[in-house]
Amino acid sequence: MLAENLSVVNERIARACARSGRVPGDVQLVAVSKFHPAEAIAEAVGLGLTVFGESRIQEAKAKIPLAPSRARWHFIGHLQSNKARDAVALFEMVQGVDSLDLASELQKQADKQSKTLPVLLEVNMAGESSKFGWSPTTVLESMEALGSLRRLEIQGLMTIAPYADDPEKVRPVFRKFRELRDRCADRLGAALPVLSMGMSGDLEVAIEEGATMVRVGTALFGARPKMGGRLPE
Ligand SMILES: *Cc1c(COP(=O)(O)O)cnc(C)c1O
Repeated sequence: MLAENLSVVNERIARACARSGRVPGDVQLVAVSKFHPAEAIAEAVGLGLTVFGESRIQEAKAKIPLAPSRARWHFIGHLQSNKARDAVALFEMVQGVDSLDLASELQKQADKQSKTLPVLLEVNMAGESSKFGWSPTTVLESMEALGSLRRLEIQGLMTIAPYADDPEKVRPVFRKFRELRDRCADRLGAALPVLSMGMSGDLEVAIEEGATMVRVGTALFGARPKMGGRLPE
């Protein structure tokens, strides 16, 4: 089942790239393995997937040691500052840096661990109260302060588009997000090559609008199992 799902997802990525004059190698697939067991990750690694997204530190701490060592890990959720030390130790990238406080704490922990940490800044494009992330205005205003955190390598931006039954409806959100990236790069005085946008339901539109990274869970692994009696978001 995973093998079939993966070929469907790869095909969707390839078609979206073809439509927009891009090549599939331009788009990194992050397999979102949150709530799925280590066995599913091992199977995915066997099929050639390399980058996995997890959204909770506790869960990642338990699963990462059980997964094949070839797997690489991106933190994609909301990170509390008191988990920054673990995040720096476990993950090769933290997507979803959503405040200066968190960025400063990551800087401090990266410094202690003598590491440089690639990060993406999460932007809440539609101002949804259910989501974390900077507003477009505050992220722009924070670029200078963020740029001074030498242990962080700001590679780009990440967003979760509002849910829409028809993904065409979120095309303008993705487009504005890319424009915001360009303005942030200007402010920073450095390129921000990574645009992490697009998930199971809207990856085609995201790629057509310039995504360089798509984060796909359900379309690969199926519906997420319930954990601890509550539905994972
Ligand atoms: C869970 C999650 C995803 C994956 O969503 P799907 O709709 O299952 O593909 C992507 N990005 C983030 C930040 C997530 O939390």
